[in-house]
Amino acid sequence: MQLRQSRKKIKQPMNNEELIKAAIRARENAIATYSDFRVGAVVVTKNGKIFTGCNVENSTYGLTMCAERVAIFKALSEGEREFTKIAVVADTPQPCFPCGACRQIIWDFASGSEVICANLNNLVEVFKAEELIPHAFGANNLDHNKK
Ligand SMILES: [Zn+2]
Repeated sequence: MQLRQSRKKIKQPMNNEELIKAAIRARENAIATYSDFRVGAVVVTKNGKIFTGCNVENSTYGLTMCAERVAIFKALSEGEREFTKIAVVADTPQPCFPCGACRQIIWDFASGSEVICANLNNLVEVFKAEELIPHAFGANNLDHNKK
């Protein structure tokens, strides 16, 4: 009897450099009709799954959705709840940092994550989520959680 060798490839976890490249690829799908400010993001789940996002603008401007939130919401909508890393990339002089709204969403859904901020020129800074939103408002501040 001959043993058949599995053809299934074992997927290696992406390192930060690969995550940044994936975010740069995701950025190519950005809908930045009004600002021309294109952003890409990647979120990594505890099980190593990758979800990408790009910013999506629309005619009202105010309903624009950031790349980080698109990536996180895509993952949440697929049932993912635990995250280890988030990368965000844009063509900025410094690494691209998440906006205030995204910092809140990162705190609420991915507080244990490493947040990798990068630009297209390989400038990278890595933060813990709590460093980006000190004294954060969160679920612990809501009355229904007090007992
Ligand atoms: Zn944002």
